[in-house]
Amino acid sequence: MTPPTAVTVDPVFADLYEEIADCPRCVLARTRSRTVPGVGPSRADIMFIGEAPGAREDELGLPFVGAAGRFLDDLLASIGLSRSDVYICNVVKCRPPGNRDPEPEEMAACKPYLDRQIEIVNPKVIVTLGRFSMARWFPGLAISRIHGRPIEADGRLIVPMYHPAAALHRGDLRAVIEADFAQLPALIEQAAPIAAPVTIATTSAATTDPERLL
Ligand code: URA
Repeated sequence: MTPPTAVTVDPVFADLYEEIADCPRCVLARTRSRTVPGVGPSRADIMFIGEAPGAREDELGLPFVGAAGRFLDDLLASIGLSRSDVYICNVVKCRPPGNRDPEPEEMAACKPYLDRQIEIVNPKVIVTLGRFSMARWFPGLAISRIHGRPIEADGRLIVPMYHPAAALHRGDLRAVIEADFAQLPALIEQAAPIAAPVTIATTSAATTDPERLL
């Protein structure tokens, strides 16, 4: 299947996205139209991790392009950011049929891809959107109790937040998510600079991009 529509992919991601595009590791490979690897620059201070692609994402190969994605764009704009400033991906890269929840084995099959994305992008701050990405760092905890309260893990700040789709169903959550987002600029400021530059084995020119070596 072809790579994501109408988006320039940083060459650093080329091998990974190709591997994802051909991925046969779980049953979602049988029903997907396109894989949805992620979108954004190869180095970003902040990474958002959602749950799984929906119908529109599956059509376009891009994450968060439906109604929840439009709200995510508004939230980013509210803190002076746009999609080009951040990296956005999901726990699983293929749409679960009928938008059912991803199964544990599907998340496990996709985990190495997410691990590599985190390694490449090397964000200071990771925002988990919804319970599936949250479970990796906050197992067994309730979003209602911990949303907006960062922890430190592997030198990064991990900030659990409600999924933007939750606010589309529950209007009272809108202000909660907006308030959690409003904290992000200060958290990015406060997060320790990530020390080690990432070395990715690739033949592309991207390895010599000076911005990646800061
Ligand atoms: N779109 C995505 O890409 N991920 C979600 O979690 C929801 C909508």
